[in-house]
Amino acid sequence: MRSIVVLVGGVGGSRFTSGLVAELERRYPDVITRPSVTAVVNTGDDAWIAGLRLCPDLDSMMYTLAGVNDTTRGWGRAGETERVADELNAYGVGWPWFTLGDLDLGTLIARSALLRDGLTLTEATAQLSARWRGGAGLPVSLLPASDDPVETHVRVTLPGASSESLIHFEEWWVKYRAGLRASGFEQLGIESARPTPHVLNAIAGADAIILAPSNPVVSIGTILSIPGLREAVRAATAPVVGVSPIIAGAAVRGMADACLTAIGVETSALAVAAHYGGRVDGGLLDSWLVAEEDAAILGRIRALGIRALAVPLWMRDLDTSACLAGAALDAAAAESQSRMAKLGRRHGQ
Ligand code: GDP
Ligand code: CA
Repeated sequence: MRSIVVLVGGVGGSRFTSGLVAELERRYPDVITRPSVTAVVNTGDDAWIAGLRLCPDLDSMMYTLAGVNDTTRGWGRAGETERVADELNAYGVGWPWFTLGDLDLGTLIARSALLRDGLTLTEATAQLSARWRGGAGLPVSLLPASDDPVETHVRVTLPGASSESLIHFEEWWVKYRAGLRASGFEQLGIESARPTPHVLNAIAGADAIILAPSNPVVSIGTILSIPGLREAVRAATAPVVGVSPIIAGAAVRGMADACLTAIGVETSALAVAAHYGGRVDGGLLDSWLVAEEDAAILGRIRALGIRALAVPLWMRDLDTSACLAGAALDAAAAESQSRMAKLGRRHGQ
């Protein structure tokens, strides 16, 4: 295995990807033989805030892989202060319910400056990634799924309103804690957005493609809805392994259940597998990893033409995340081996 592509959102995606990096370091102590990891990152949560480009999932990935994330809060930089946010609030600029720390704002200022200088988001992300770990950069290439702005909006009825309106995903998620019933999601800008050539090349050249246990609607769903991206994953020769973000009918962390309900998908590992679909039936998945708590549904997933496996799915720390990533690598290898065996049998006939 030489190259691994993982489709990710923010928090779930970064936990999984850190585990993947640790597991690959363990399996391939020699860096020369170690497979490369490319993360295709959701940009649907991006927004302009106080004149700055906010890319929450790219930054969650970058901070976690650089080892500077705040593990207590679960987002942002460790050791933050909020002096600039206080000033912005005093000026009435930005979103008062969306506090960004000073260090985090440093990232946003740098990104906005690079974008204003004419760099694409892909180029700006590469430049922001390069400074970490003493200038060695990140152990993973971070690729925004698209350089074209795509911003997820949520259709809701605001308190006191008589009709529905569209609000930015971050407003729904952070200000209303996903508590306003969502009747749907709209990705503004999606029709004219395209996956970048970097993303298409990474997917086409991958030996394994993993759908991280990220939000299946507003993280993985948004990535896949960029015109051409789902088709690229389907056309890839690499096995596609998905990791369930749902354990025993619950979104482990966060509010993925509210998103699934909005698009009419039940909050269960089986329903999310069916939503992604089996590759044999025009969907994406060759394999699907569910929690041991969900072992009873393995037969029903296999009936969809998807290889299914029950493994420990909780990412409590780096070790448990690494074990989970290892199970995903093994599932990809098993799928490749079974294809080779089938080919061998065909040739032997
Ligand atoms: P966000 O962009 O920050 O919301 O993060 P992601 O989209 O990457 O991931 C959020 C999802 O990860 C949550 O909705 C959960 O369903 C899932 N998740 C979080 N922690 C775990 C875990 O320990 N195990 C598994 N399997 N899924 C998890
Ligand atoms: Ca996100």
